[in-house]
Amino acid sequence: MPELPAPPRDGVREVLSALAVSGTLTELYGKEPTGRLDPLLLRRVLAEADARGPQGTVLALLVQLATALPLLADAAATPVTRRVLRASLEGEALLALAATDAAAAGSDLAALGTTVDLGDQDGDLLLDGVKRWVTSALTADHALVLARHRPGRHFTSFTWVLVPLDASGVTVSPADTDLFQGSGVGDIQLSSVTLPRAYLLGRPGRGLALFARHLAVERLASAAWAVELCRRVVSDTAHRLDDRLLDGVPLRQSPSVRQRLAACAVQVSALHALWMQSRERIATDRDGTAAAVLKALSGTTVERVLSECGQLQGADGFGRGGIQQLRSEAAVFGIGGGTTEVVLDTTAERLDHVLAGLTP
Ligand SMILES: Cc1cc2nc3c(=O)[nH]c(=O)nc-3n(C[C@H](O)[C@H](O)[C@H](O)COP(=O)(O)OP(=O)(O)OC[C@H]3O[C@@H](n4cnc5c(N)ncnc54)[C@H](O)[C@@H]3O)c2cc1C
Repeated sequence: MPELPAPPRDGVREVLSALAVSGTLTELYGKEPTGRLDPLLLRRVLAEADARGPQGTVLALLVQLATALPLLADAAATPVTRRVLRASLEGEALLALAATDAAAAGSDLAALGTTVDLGDQDGDLLLDGVKRWVTSALTADHALVLARHRPGRHFTSFTWVLVPLDASGVTVSPADTDLFQGSGVGDIQLSSVTLPRAYLLGRPGRGLALFARHLAVERLASAAWAVELCRRVVSDTAHRLDDRLLDGVPLRQSPSVRQRLAACAVQVSALHALWMQSRERIATDRDGTAAAVLKALSGTTVERVLSECGQLQGADGFGRGGIQQLRSEAAVFGIGGGTTEVVLDTTAERLDHVLAGLTP
C-alpha cells in the first residue's frame, strides 16, 4: 500500500490531486476501474481527511470517492464520459452526484421530477428540473444527474446523465446554510439543458439499479467516517476532562463520567465491529440489506456519541468550531444518503433474513 499523503487542510480538489499523485487513487480502484474499490484503503483516506477537516471537505471527498467516481467507472461507455472518468482518476475533475430533487421528498426517489427527454436514437438529450442539497454543486466540473425518461414510479423509469456544470441552461446556487464549509453544497437548476446523447450513463432505465449498487458503498463509507469521527471526538473529550478539575480532581476520574465515556467507546466499538464484518459483503457483493443495517447503526451511534460528548464538554463546546457545531453537521449521518427511518424500513423488509444471519 502506498504512503498516504498528508491531505492539505483546504479544498477537496487539493486532496484529490494529492491522492492521485501518491498513487492512492490507482490503489483504491485498481488499474482498470470497474466501480469496485478497496474498502479498507477508503477508510484510511477518510480517517486522514477527518483528522484534518473541515467536515465539508470530508463530505465532498466521500461523495467523489465512494459514489460518484465508482458510478461513473461502472457506467461510462462513450469517449466523452470516459474522458471525464480519466480526469477524475487523475485527481483533476471533481464530480457531484445529484439525486435529491426539488419536486419530491428526498426519501421518495421514485417521485423525482427532473426529466430527461431521450429524443430519437441519434438525437440530443433535453433535461429540465431542480436538484437540491447536492454536495460539490458549487465546485464540481460535472454532475451525475438522476432523471426520469418516462412518467411513473416504475424502477426502470430513471436514467443517469453526466451534466457539465458550465453547460448552457445550468444554474447552481449555494444551499442556505452556514454549515458544511468546504462541501460546496447547493442546488442545481436545469432549464432546457441540451446535451449530445454521448452524455448518457448506462442504458436508459438502469438508473435506480446503478444507484442501489453504489449507494450501498456510500453507506459503507459513511459508516467508516462515522467510526473515525466518533473515535476522535470521544478521545478529545476524555483529554479535555483530564484538565477540568472538580474540587481538585480531574472530571475524567469521576465514576459517572468514566462510565459515560466508556459507554461511548462501547457504541463506537460495536459500529467498528459491524463495519469490519460487513465491509466485503457491501463493497464486493453490494449487499443492500447489510448496508442499510450499518447505516442505521452509524446514524444512531453518531447522534448518541456526539450528544453525550457535547454535554461533557460544557460551555466550551459552543465555541467557534466546537463540538456543538460539529454535532449539528454530524446530524447528516442520520439524513444524507438515506435517513435513518428509510434504512430501518429496508431492514424491516428483510427482518427475517437479518435475524437469520445472526448465527455464529
Ligand atoms: C449536507 C448534505 C449533503 C447532501 N448531499 C447530497 C448529494 O450530494 N446528492 C444528493 O442527491 N443528495 C444529497 N443530500 C440530500 C440527502 O440525501 C437528503 O436530505 C435525504 O435523502 C433525505 O431527503 P429529504 O431531506 O428531502 O428528507 P425527507 O425525505 O423530506 O424526509 C424528512 C424526514 O421525514 C422522515 N421520514 C422520511 N422518510 C421516512 C419513512 N420512510 N418513515 C418514517 N419517517 C420518514 C425522516 O425523519 C426524515 O428526516 C444532502 C443532504 C445534506 C444535508
